[in-house]
Amino acid sequence: MIQQFNYPTIIKFGAGAIKLVPQSLKQRGAKRPLIVTDRDLAVTPMLGDLQLSLSQVGLIPAVFGGATSNPVETQVKEGVAAYHEHGGDCLVIIGGGAALDVGKSIALMINHPGNLFNYEEGRSDGRPVDQPIPYMIAVPTTAGTGSEVGRSMVIADAVSHVKRIIFDPKLLPPLVIADPELTYGLPAAMTAAVGFDALTHNVEAFLAHEWHPIADGIALEGVRLVALNLLTAVREPTNLTARAGMQMASIMGAVASQKGLGVTHSCAHALSSVFDTHHGLANAMMLEPCMEFNRACCEERLARLGQAVMVPATSTSELATGFLRWVRALKHDVGLPPRLGTLDAATTARLVEVAAADPCHTSNPRPVSRDDFGHIFANAM
Ligand SMILES: [Zn+2]
Repeated sequence: MIQQFNYPTIIKFGAGAIKLVPQSLKQRGAKRPLIVTDRDLAVTPMLGDLQLSLSQVGLIPAVFGGATSNPVETQVKEGVAAYHEHGGDCLVIIGGGAALDVGKSIALMINHPGNLFNYEEGRSDGRPVDQPIPYMIAVPTTAGTGSEVGRSMVIADAVSHVKRIIFDPKLLPPLVIADPELTYGLPAAMTAAVGFDALTHNVEAFLAHEWHPIADGIALEGVRLVALNLLTAVREPTNLTARAGMQMASIMGAVASQKGLGVTHSCAHALSSVFDTHHGLANAMMLEPCMEFNRACCEERLARLGQAVMVPATSTSELATGFLRWVRALKHDVGLPPRLGTLDAATTARLVEVAAADPCHTSNPRPVSRDDFGHIFANAM
């Protein structure tokens, strides 16, 4: 069954929903879609099937398959050139978080002047997003970033590899096609890593210091869905209930994190900048030490997360401890590495520098100094 949700955008959710893409484009009067995807997905039968289904209704598709994990700005430029070369009039963005972020960035830059980082969040000299953005359909093939329902993108500078956040409400795709069957082919390690990204979004959103009960409610249920489904999705890749549960947890994490993220994401962004670590894996390795750090200020909130993951305890302290133990056990059970491994002082200093400059920790419930980042990375080794 395919269900439609109209929050925070139109989401058509369910097994087989991918079949709705051609008609959705036809209804918009689109003729020449550019499909934006990951380098690995571009050569798969799934992409071939999508192109065929578009051609069969008279559309003329082209493919830009230039997105890679931890995407950089040059990929956006190449995609904009591919769009103009094709004479495109809309975008179908299909893939993991990297493809979605690159695709949304291409959509922004098709009619906007300057370069992508002129539109970086929080820049006092930033340019306005005031030109038309072509119609885009977002089709996630992983269950982690939730970028399909997000209004921001994370793209790295091609030279420094420092990640920058581009934000504007107009960057929310007007239609999301969420088909959990598209995630069946995700290898176990990738399912685990992106699943930890979804978990981290929900956890950090719930803990972020702003008062936002709407996001809190979504985040708690998102965490519960991870507790119910991630391990099964890793062990039984074609279990539709588990895959659908994780896809929804991913969407909910992205919606909830409109409230803010936290220290884990700043540490993860630093690891990805310095080592090109996969974003979900980086979050998985940092979540527990970061929550240990946060415990000093928000034990009651950690206890509520313990309730959400069904820790069998009643006291606040036991529930908070139980939540941290649950994170550690889940990471172990899904086969992710427990620790960063030993890092030398110079590397740690570079990580601290990048993490401290990252904006995510500004919404963390406990302020994070450079010394704190040093301790957190030391605890993660
Ligand atoms: Zn994330």
